[in-house]
Amino acid sequence: MLKNFVVIGGGFAGTKVTRELEHTLPPDWTLTLVSQENFITFNPLLPEVVGASILPGHVIAPHRQMIHCSHVCMAQVTEIDTVNRVIHYLGEGAGTMRYDQLVLACGTNANLDIVGSSVSKPAAADCHPSGTACYRVSMTLNNLNNFNPAGGQDTDTNVVWLTQWLVQSSTDSVGGRNFFAYAESTNGGALSCFDGDAGTQRIGGGLTLTYPGRIAITAPGACTAQTGKNGTITIDVPTADVSEVDPVDNSLHEVTASTMTTPGPMECLCTVASPIGVPFNLIDVAKAYTFTPVPLADLQIVKTAPSTGHVGQSLLYTITVTNNGPDKASGATVNDQLPKNAGFGSASASQGSCTLKPQKRLVVCDLGDLGPATGSPPAGTATVSISVKPTTKGTITNTATVSDTSPLDPNPSNNSSSATTSISP
Ligand SMILES: Cc1cc2nc3c(=O)[nH]c(=O)nc-3n(C[C@H](O)[C@H](O)[C@H](O)COP(=O)(O)OP(=O)(O)OC[C@H]3O[C@@H](n4cnc5c(N)ncnc54)[C@H](O)[C@@H]3O)c2cc1C
Repeated sequence: MLKNFVVIGGGFAGTKVTRELEHTLPPDWTLTLVSQENFITFNPLLPEVVGASILPGHVIAPHRQMIHCSHVCMAQVTEIDTVNRVIHYLGEGAGTMRYDQLVLACGTNANLDIVGSSVSKPAAADCHPSGTACYRVSMTLNNLNNFNPAGGQDTDTNVVWLTQWLVQSSTDSVGGRNFFAYAESTNGGALSCFDGDAGTQRIGGGLTLTYPGRIAITAPGACTAQTGKNGTITIDVPTADVSEVDPVDNSLHEVTASTMTTPGPMECLCTVASPIGVPFNLIDVAKAYTFTPVPLADLQIVKTAPSTGHVGQSLLYTITVTNNGPDKASGATVNDQLPKNAGFGSASASQGSCTLKPQKRLVVCDLGDLGPATGSPPAGTATVSISVKPTTKGTITNTATVSDTSPLDPNPSNNSSSATTSISP
């Protein structure tokens, strides 16, 4: 009885091995190449096809032109029964094929589990918890339909989506720190998030980076997922957790996102197995990038006044300016256009100074710098007091605006505020 030599995969490796074997196998052997396509693609020339400098037909070669004395079966192998030495395939219908020797040359498929990675630095007021300055780490996952670990041969129970980055320091003895944040699920359960900085573990003579969770991120809304085709996992990482002494700049360097599986929750394993973590099974890694935050300062102004007043009596406006961050605002200025039916009384500010431009009936208060609300110093809030004397009865509406010379204010909707007072004789 003839023996069967089967090669699965008609790429570079499978075609080459088939061409070599068809001249060297003993006569009592048959040789069969099973491949999904009936041609080999010369991958190095694919970019030229994309660029339309050569035609698609120029980068493929049919197997039957390259293989002369063997069988070629265009089919997708779906299962290999190693006990009975049979492969199952789907071609023009389902079939099986017995083998005595088997070569697997199926190539590799990009996993593309992680299809996007980004970091932003929202205003502290938008972070979770509100008012705690944060980096917002986001990872986009292909078909994030549930939180189960990848199937197949991976027996791990824990799946981890991690973003890491470097902060270089001019004084740190090891040059900087490798911070990270991750979301994880055990046995498909709810996500939990952690941040920390990476350690190293000596394995088989080499060093492997490990990621023990140092701090649980438990604030409501700080560790969220949106499932779906391009699902996202978003983590608000408090900047205080991932700060380094004397950073060389304000960038996060070599930001990479990855999916990995581990035999159990990372932060538990690291305390059980060793002080610095456990090995992991890497599923996919996103391309590295540098995140340089664009400085932003969200100035907010709120103007208040009594609801009623009288002609000839002082009417006091109180204006509160707050910098919601995330960065310091330089040259904050309040402009207040005085109402026509009121005379000017006085203007003062908790920092900086106010002047009246009588021709324009405009009060201008230069407040100088305002720190982010959570930072110190300078203060994140300043107040301005302006008094006027109404000259006629009726309704007085007065509006104040705020601006800064730098940086950009991402939210102009809260840069003006009005107050209305009903004036009686
Ligand atoms: C754009 C591009 C440019 C490249 N440039 C270079 C370069 O310049 N130099 C270089 O050395 N390398 C280059 N490479 C890499 C090189 O192409 C690969 O290393 C090489 O193709 C791997 O050969 P392989 O036979 O292992 O797999 P592949 O060539 O991928 O072949 C695998 C084959 O198995 C088939 N197959 C898979 N699963 C099954 C299944 N279940 N049933 C049946 N058939 C199956 C596939 O259809 C495919 O035909 C490039 C790759 C790309 C994508």
